Amino acid sequence: MTEHAVDDSGKLTALLSQARYILLDFDGPVCKVFAGLPAHEIAAELQDLVVSRGFDLPVELHHTGDPLAILRWAADEDDDLAQVVDKALTDAEVRAVATAEPTPGAREFLEACQATGRPVAIVSNNSSEAIRAYLNRTALTSLVAHVEGRDHQRPDQMKPSPYLLFRALSVGREAPTVAAFVGDSVTDVQAGNRARVMTIGFANKLGKVSQLSGAGSAAVVRKLTELTESIARL
Ligand SMILES: [Mg+2]
Repeated sequence: MTEHAVDDSGKLTALLSQARYILLDFDGPVCKVFAGLPAHEIAAELQDLVVSRGFDLPVELHHTGDPLAILRWAADEDDDLAQVVDKALTDAEVRAVATAEPTPGAREFLEACQATGRPVAIVSNNSSEAIRAYLNRTALTSLVAHVEGRDHQRPDQMKPSPYLLFRALSVGREAPTVAAFVGDSVTDVQAGNRARVMTIGFANKLGKVSQLSGAGSAAVVRKLTELTESIARL
């Protein structure tokens, strides 16, 4: 499979015809969370917070640019620190979604799921507070059946752990075999495979097609319209 010639449409149709419950990652498939408030700025804020609490961030995280990487580290390091970092990150995410950029085709995909009786749960390492604020801001709330953001008590259980997917499956009362999870990261594919749901990689950047299929996603799309069109054809 090359970056420029992906034809998973047959696979997609077969897969989506079995999918009664759609699990959808947030940052990437729904919007670009940090389009207006860059992630590296939030990461720098969290780094200052960690230092102010008397902890040393490991050298490899000094320039991470990924606030979730700092939270993941804090969760391994110290429970109280993890709570403080989680809270600060949640506040920053809520600020960020005010200027988040909608992903082209996201609304149409959500509408197609609703029109064909497929409830959608958003499953994300971002906070539910920020996800709900974004859905509200962009009038998407009525198209989403459930929001499963990171568990503030268990930041160690973010994806690639299957934990959040299991929680969403339990709320939706569906078996993994009839659920499809759409995500744009290798960690989404890993979490999906661990939860035994069907995984669909959303390769929204060059290079991601091979990464996501290499991680074991059942199908890969470059655009959300491919999903919307497949669902419409069922
Ligand atoms: Mg993502």
